[in-house]
Amino acid sequence: MPQGPGLVMIDRDGVINEDSNEFVKSVAEWRPIKGSLEAIAALHRGGWRVAVVTNQSGVGRGLYDEATLAKIHEHMRERARAAGGEIAGVYYCPHLPDDGCDCRKPKPGLFRALERELRVSVIGAPYIGDRLSDIEAALGVGAQPILVRTGTGAATEALLAGRDVPVFDDLAAAARSLLDSKR
Ligand SMILES: [Mg+2]
Ligand SMILES: [Zn+2]
Repeated sequence: MPQGPGLVMIDRDGVINEDSNEFVKSVAEWRPIKGSLEAIAALHRGGWRVAVVTNQSGVGRGLYDEATLAKIHEHMRERARAAGGEIAGVYYCPHLPDDGCDCRKPKPGLFRALERELRVSVIGAPYIGDRLSDIEAALGVGAQPILVRTGTGAATEALLAGRDVPVFDDLAAAARSLLDSKR
């Protein structure tokens, strides 16, 4: 593990913003989970480089297009900035589960794109998510999985089946732990 803070990767839906069975299709439907923007700000102030890694199959389903997704992500980044944070990059998979792409988590494609663009290794870096596919994606690329109980996280916790994965109530609690451990 590298000394001091480094890269921290965060899933979007159910971790930064409220998830929806109907998908988040517009800026208006993007609602931050309480404390998540402040957590991103705290990580940034603590020297962490924050990146978002997210599956967005709503694009492939035709529920919203990539221009709308770009607007949602610009809004998310502005809200993080307004809270005192900074998001270094947002990496998303627009494909359907059966498209056979190489980027839909738990596949490694998004992490590889992140490594190329941010010129950083994801090995040992925390990845904070709410689904089993997030945990599996992190383990697959040698990152450190962290589960939060927001979104579908509480249900996912029951599926961990003895896997040694740290679990926190929400992104704020996970961020506090990272900031405490790397001080
Ligand atoms: Mg999620
Ligand atoms: Zn994909």
